[in-house]
Amino acid sequence: MSFNVAIDGPAGAGKSTVAKAVAGKMHLIYVDTGAMYRAMALFMIREGVNLREKAAIAEKCHEARITIRHEDGVQVVCLNEENVNSLIRTEEVSHAASLVSVIPEVRTTMVNLQKRLAADSDCIMDGRDIGTCVLPGAQLKIYLTASSEVRAKRRYDELAARGEACDLKTIQADIEDRDYRDMHREISPLKQAEDAVLVDTSHMTQEEVIHAVADLCTQARVRG
Ligand code: C5P
Repeated sequence: MSFNVAIDGPAGAGKSTVAKAVAGKMHLIYVDTGAMYRAMALFMIREGVNLREKAAIAEKCHEARITIRHEDGVQVVCLNEENVNSLIRTEEVSHAASLVSVIPEVRTTMVNLQKRLAADSDCIMDGRDIGTCVLPGAQLKIYLTASSEVRAKRRYDELAARGEACDLKTIQADIEDRDYRDMHREISPLKQAEDAVLVDTSHMTQEEVIHAVADLCTQARVRG
């Protein structure tokens, strides 16, 4: 049986940075499920689909073939065979991803793909519904969070470091908006699984978080 770690939490909690680092330390494959929803969002934007029209998204999503593979430990997300890794990290795609991810047809396709990936490999998978829906039997579940102020500031620093113009208040508003949509949607809303360990990173450094999560993984592996 494969060893699976589920990390859920709101936007900007540091899930992907932590999951990537812990994957390296613990020899796990890192699966970033947000990237799959982002690839689907990019498809809808390119196709000119109105993101408020749920029926149009539900119909169109079957034309998008989203696959992932790993090259030198890095996840490559392909949309109809095109590597879209460098195109899905914009604010426009972030926003669109949270709109397309509420559509049941989109979620079913993504969840099936994620379950298959986890069955085939020892992995650490991050997202919003991993512990509650995708991998309910994961050997370790973590709910990683931080206050919206801290999360917005981290995102602001990241964008500023890349030289991208941004406004802290707008970023925080967008994060809170996405949290609301992710936590209140009908299907698999973001919430802490009953058996998940809560890690609040508001007052922790990145190194401290990586260390804490790696320790939890080691303990879970020992438990089997
Ligand atoms: O994690 P990331 O910010 O890349 O995810 C983008 C969006 O995809 C989230 O805001 C959320 O709406 C959606 N998502 C989801 N379920 C997941 C992962 C991401 O609904 N497992």
